[in-house]
Amino acid sequence: MTATTENPRFRQGAGRLCLDYLRTLRRRGMPDATEELTDPAALAAWVRQCGPCGSAAGAADAGQLAEARRLREAVHTLVLAGRSPQGPGSCPAPDRELVNRWAALPVPTPGLDPAGRLHWHADDPVAATLALLARDSLDLVSSAAIGRVRDCACPECSALFSDTSRPGNRRWCSMDECGNRAKKKALRSRAAAS
Ligand SMILES: [Zn+2]
Repeated sequence: MTATTENPRFRQGAGRLCLDYLRTLRRRGMPDATEELTDPAALAAWVRQCGPCGSAAGAADAGQLAEARRLREAVHTLVLAGRSPQGPGSCPAPDRELVNRWAALPVPTPGLDPAGRLHWHADDPVAATLALLARDSLDLVSSAAIGRVRDCACPECSALFSDTSRPGNRRWCSMDECGNRAKKKALRSRAAAS
């Protein structure tokens, strides 16, 4: 676990598994949007890093990768519909049905080992983790938590995150990346003005 936790490949910290997953399309909607799920190995790596099965997550194949990307875009459409004044019911049927189908699949199950450590198991960890984040997105859009989904204030970032701060005034998807970048920028412009 050491290498992946110290230097994670994929961005996390959006506050919800489904929102972290949306971030695998970096700078969504911008001219330089970047696909992070470039091949089946990248999908498996995301599941290992971000899903509950951890290193037990197996491999993915090309078919799964294509389905995983389709699910991601359906979840994105669903979350946008959930945030809109019309609510999640305004999500187009094909997207809603796709997320529903994934949410109906088996999800990872927990078990305690003799040392008292919790492990999550699934016959197909990739599919099960996708099912888990599909369920997470349904829960998100149908609960009050959708009102706390924000756009990152960093103009070069298009990430959505769940603002769980008590005052509800969190501005950046992550303090490490966008928050620090914004602070440095502010410092630079203050220095230039003086
Ligand atoms: Zn951001």
